[in-house]
Amino acid sequence: MSSAVTSPVAKSVGPLGTVVLRGVRPLGGAPADVVVADGKIAEIRPAGATVELPCYGLDGMILLPGFVDLHTHLREPGTEDAETIASGTRAAAAGGYTDVFAMANTDPVTDSPQRVAAIVDIAARTAACRVHPVAAITKALAGQQLAPMASLIEHGVRMFSDDGKCVDDAALLREALAVAAQHDVLIAQHAQHGQLAGDGQINAGPAAERTALAPWPAVAEETIVARDAILAAEAGAALHICHASTAGTVDIIRWAKALGWPVTAEVTPHHLLLTDELAALQDTRYKVNPPLRRHADVAALREAVLDGTIDAVATDHAPHTTARKSQPWCSAPFGMTGLETALPVLAHVLTEAEALDWTKVAELMAFGPARIAGIPTSALRIGDPATFCLVDPNAGRTVDPAEHRSKSANTPFRGMWLPTNVIATSIDGYLTHSTEAFEEAKRCDAR
Ligand SMILES: [Zn+2]
Repeated sequence: MSSAVTSPVAKSVGPLGTVVLRGVRPLGGAPADVVVADGKIAEIRPAGATVELPCYGLDGMILLPGFVDLHTHLREPGTEDAETIASGTRAAAAGGYTDVFAMANTDPVTDSPQRVAAIVDIAARTAACRVHPVAAITKALAGQQLAPMASLIEHGVRMFSDDGKCVDDAALLREALAVAAQHDVLIAQHAQHGQLAGDGQINAGPAAERTALAPWPAVAEETIVARDAILAAEAGAALHICHASTAGTVDIIRWAKALGWPVTAEVTPHHLLLTDELAALQDTRYKVNPPLRRHADVAALREAVLDGTIDAVATDHAPHTTARKSQPWCSAPFGMTGLETALPVLAHVLTEAEALDWTKVAELMAFGPARIAGIPTSALRIGDPATFCLVDPNAGRTVDPAEHRSKSANTPFRGMWLPTNVIATSIDGYLTHSTEAFEEAKRCDAR
């Protein structure tokens, strides 16, 4: 297999150099003094043992591997008024992410090696995290003809998706899975049966009845998930289910995994917390695809996260300008921002479930997605890359999009108090995000 295509990073803050992160809790475990040198985790000492070296006093801060987002819309090229690779990756770094997979539904669509190279080039100049271009499964996302997958793979693409659209044609998807199996790459499906979902605007059931909006039924997702799981098993190809949103989808994934089929799945933070009752208010901040579902779906998704049926949390960060989101419900685009609120929402959800466990957070936001995408990540052991984020578990804030790095403000969490704060993010010992709280910790030596 060729090596994965990724952008080098325009380091946005600067090198950490040789420093001690004093009193941090790697993966939420026992406090330790972690020495960073030459971009790596050089030493891990008992907490409080360190007296020399430049030092950050970080007692109680949680040290986690850099997060990996399998599902980001960066909007560049084509819709730079909503987001750019620069602004979107700054949002990612602020959310603790070191790697994002940039979906192909830009304008033009990422469906050729030239388009992939163009994104890598912009990212190398402007990005604050590593950007992995996802290529389209079908040319121009038209669902008619496969994109030149072999050539894209030769140029380092590891993940294919028509996200935003579903590959409805079963024969075409079967063909794509055959190519994916041959080259050991991933097919990520946005499961939305065209005929069953129609121009659905809101979850079918009470929300659709109350608003008289066109229904987007759970079966439109579940039929595609079941069909594709069967096709993936036949091909022996890795299939990834984007934004699982229903209890039925969870059952199908559980069934596929029990059979040993090569199926993985992600869930978004918003589908773990919000329901269609909010969408029924017809505030377009709650318009998303797939739509917000019923309480029972949220409960099933949470259970699936806890029992490992769902492998990863992915944001589906989908920025839109306020002007476009201010249109009437049916004209407004689907989508919500998510990079800067993903960890706080997940921490809130796990706390509600009395299951906040930092190893689980690391699995869902870093190790799981990295494994699915086939990229390396840091296990935070001696000799591993200093690629991490530092989380203050006792901080929290009321979500205010004016404070966000994203160019867009379409967060459904505005005004909600959510726990945790990412105080610093590092890639190979280069800070890509740092807050005042982190800078203040530098006075460690004086304590
Ligand atoms: Zn999607």
